[in-house]
Amino acid sequence: MTTNRDVPPVTWFDTHAHLYLIHEESPRGEILRRAEEAARAAKEAGVGAILCPGIDTPSNEAAITLAQRCPGTVWAAVGVHPNSAAECGDADWERVVAWATDPAVKAIGETGLDRYRDATPWDVQCVWFRRQLELAVRSALPAVIHCREAEADITPFLREFAAGGLRGVMHACAAAWDHVATWLDLGLYISFAGSVTYRNRKFEVIRDTARRVPLDRILVETDAPFLTPEPLRGRVPRCRVEYVAHTGSFVAELRGLAVAEFAAQTTRNAVALFGVSL
Ligand SMILES: [Zn+2]
Repeated sequence: MTTNRDVPPVTWFDTHAHLYLIHEESPRGEILRRAEEAARAAKEAGVGAILCPGIDTPSNEAAITLAQRCPGTVWAAVGVHPNSAAECGDADWERVVAWATDPAVKAIGETGLDRYRDATPWDVQCVWFRRQLELAVRSALPAVIHCREAEADITPFLREFAAGGLRGVMHACAAAWDHVATWLDLGLYISFAGSVTYRNRKFEVIRDTARRVPLDRILVETDAPFLTPEPLRGRVPRCRVEYVAHTGSFVAELRGLAVAEFAAQTTRNAVALFGVSL
């Protein structure tokens, strides 16, 4: 029999939060201060751990600074987002490579492919994606992978690099099960954001996937400040890290699991993937 005292507090691991974007309109020092406050508030609210991925040089820098200021709560990923790649060059790449050895950095990304937006020409996206997958393998770090309307394009890259030892997570997964099944076979983790809670029928495909991912490969995230989960969607200006509990509880219910059990399992999965100690 379990007593209340034996049950650990529900502690979520938000595996994808752009903390530095939550207060984008403020001056830089203020952004970092408020992002740090946001991380601490999230911790009080039961989100014990946050992976903060950069998308370009200023945000990579901010992610590392936040990780240094919040040890044991925030870790950084460094990379160049497919939608930022057009504005990045050799100097940005050299910094990502140098940062990959920083102890606060636990992953390479956010990287990936995006056919929904055309901010970066496709061939340029592919160059940046490939070099980041190479770096992840070389650094023995997992990759944080963005895939928007590019499922069929991304799989050959993943197949190639998985053969070389790539580990990683498909973030804010919106893909249909046949793609996800392939990615799972390649050893990847699958992370769900607020979009899994959206009521519109077109999001049913995400729920179908979220029901089927093996329990030892599933992660949760906010993608803050984007993808605010229900029931807060449309009622708050931007997504906050605490809201990962809404997404996590939703997926737990979808799978018929106790919320605390699901929180603990997804946290264990994130700890295993990113190699952090809580
Ligand atoms: Zn992101």
